[in-house]
Amino acid sequence: MREDESVDDLQAVLDRAADSGRITPDEALALYRWAPLHALGRAADTVRRRRYPDGIATYIIERNINYTNVCVTACKFCAFYRAPGHRQGWTHPISEIVRRAGEAAALGATQIMLQGGHHPDLGIEWYEQAFGALKSAYPDLVLHSLGGSEVVHISRVSSLGIDEVITRLHAAGLDSFAGAGAEILVDRPRQVIAPLKEPGGIWLDVMRSAHRQGIESTATFMMGTGETNAERIEHLRLIRDVQDETGGFRSFIPWTYQPENNHLHGRTQATITEYLRLVAVARLFLDNVAHLQGSWLTVGKEAGQLSLHYGADDLGSVMLEENVVSSAGARHRSNLAEIIHLIRSADRIPAQRDTLYRHLRVHTDPAQDPTDPRVVSHYSSTVTGARRPVKAPGLAVVG
Ligand code: SF4
Repeated sequence: MREDESVDDLQAVLDRAADSGRITPDEALALYRWAPLHALGRAADTVRRRRYPDGIATYIIERNINYTNVCVTACKFCAFYRAPGHRQGWTHPISEIVRRAGEAAALGATQIMLQGGHHPDLGIEWYEQAFGALKSAYPDLVLHSLGGSEVVHISRVSSLGIDEVITRLHAAGLDSFAGAGAEILVDRPRQVIAPLKEPGGIWLDVMRSAHRQGIESTATFMMGTGETNAERIEHLRLIRDVQDETGGFRSFIPWTYQPENNHLHGRTQATITEYLRLVAVARLFLDNVAHLQGSWLTVGKEAGQLSLHYGADDLGSVMLEENVVSSAGARHRSNLAEIIHLIRSADRIPAQRDTLYRHLRVHTDPAQDPTDPRVVSHYSSTVTGARRPVKAPGLAVVG
């Protein structure tokens, strides 16, 4: 479509997409640029309603355990990493990782997301020991961890092929890959913001390989680092094409770049309007991806809640620990009761889910809502400005 094409043409595309017809990348770009915001949201919400007629929107309780901040990849948008040898670099012993997982399990977490820097000394054996120790101590915790970039890094450190790294991680206990490291998959902006990271095509190849081995993943998009609108849609296309091949992306999670303490400082972030437009277009364009998550952690609670009206069916997590985007300035904090309230006041039925989006607890009666005050985001985080850890009986305060 061209800019001079009519509003009627745009409406025809919206109607087709709302009716679950596939739209082309050019049509998605036209919608992203020119469709009236509310019409875009209405079409995306129509798709969401058809997919989830029960009116449920979900959340998960998890802990993001950052095992090391030492990293050789030096992404320009990252405020979390420290170069090898830096005095502020750290790596947790595996016993500490297991202890943190136990603390999360005691607070009702069902999922652990192990995420860390590309440490030059951590090869496949370290990850096998870590996953093995976690699984043997807490077999019910799902390890939704690492991502395409970590797999590439491990393959380099250990001189192994990608397929073998994935096989061994899975055998050691990894259940599902996180969508981290996708950032933006399009070559030009990826090279600008993360010149030492693997190209987007390699990240997608890792996901293809994992999916073919029966290990699902999520897919993410960090928007707002200077990419063009066309490059935003191209990122969606790359994911849709792989999903057509493998069907292994469980959900899509767009989030916004946080501008503090990193080498891209001073760039403008994506606005809330841009974010909501992207969420809506993603719901319309990614007709082969089941779930779409709003990122309250990066765009704020109100915008996260609004995303539920623009096609999202999930509000992410009560993340008991998070250090990566918090290092770059994400200061939004929440807790279990508030996440449930945000979902309910968006006129959805809140439900706690597991990694596979199965409903664990459906909160139909507000009088029965869980009230555990310890279940807060950033229960433990090391980042300045994070909430102080809550001291709870029988639980150590960490971080
Ligand atoms: S985003 Fe990940 S890979 Fe890039 S510098 Fe930060 S920790 Fe390293």
